[in-house]
Amino acid sequence: MKIGILGGGLCGLVAANALAGEHNVVMFEKMPFLGGCLASYHIDEYWIERYYHHCFSGDEQLFTLIRELGLWDKLEWREGSTGYFSGGTLYPLTTPLQILRWPELSLIDKAKLALMTLRAKKTDPLSLDDIPAETYILEHLGSRIYSSFFEPLLRSKFGKNRSKVSAAWLISRIAIRSNRGASGE
Ligand SMILES: Cc1cc2nc3c(=O)[nH]c(=O)nc-3n(C[C@H](O)[C@H](O)[C@H](O)COP(=O)(O)OP(=O)(O)OC[C@H]3O[C@@H](n4cnc5c(N)ncnc54)[C@H](O)[C@@H]3O)c2cc1C
Repeated sequence: MKIGILGGGLCGLVAANALAGEHNVVMFEKMPFLGGCLASYHIDEYWIERYYHHCFSGDEQLFTLIRELGLWDKLEWREGSTGYFSGGTLYPLTTPLQILRWPELSLIDKAKLALMTLRAKKTDPLSLDDIPAETYILEHLGSRIYSSFFEPLLRSKFGKNRSKVSAAWLISRIAIRSNRGASGE
């Protein structure tokens, strides 16, 4: 069969890889490079991602693909570190102690965040599909946590579309990120 694939991002490339053996596949990509959000650019000999990506030790489907492509030996496991840049200062936020010391939120706010993280693992994301993340956070955590923590993160990731992001996405991300395991990301 003759198949056209629109877009050479991760989805398009995986689809092309799966179909190309049996079918006549043509890919249409509007950019001069493949990869979409996963594409990289280089400065001299150094390659860097256009966007920051990471995977977790439980991402089995991704690992199956990486093995199929013969790239397993190139996968590097690093210990991830997280920081929060605010008011000209970079606050490390990787360990529980660093989070406790973080001056931007009160202890009560941090306790509320911790509770939401624990709840996230037990929440069915489908039940939150139609609720905007913004509404969910304001209702459950209040405006201070929203404006000083979540709103800047949503703004930097989604820009002007941040108010359209579903709470289902947010809760799934919190559940995954808080479940990264000892082997890192
Ligand atoms: C900042 C950031 C961080 C992220 N971090 C993670 C992460 O840690 N882990 C994770 O799993 N995911 C992460 N993601 C999400 C991940 O990058 C995407 O889910 C994934 O790359 C989407 O792949 P895609 O093929 O669906 O879309 P895209 O990568 O957007 O590819 C779509 C392609 O279609 C092309 N295209 C669009 N319109 C046309 C057209 N009319 N004609 C021809 N071509 C067209 C585009 O140029 C592009 O190449 C992150 C995304 C961002 C932005």
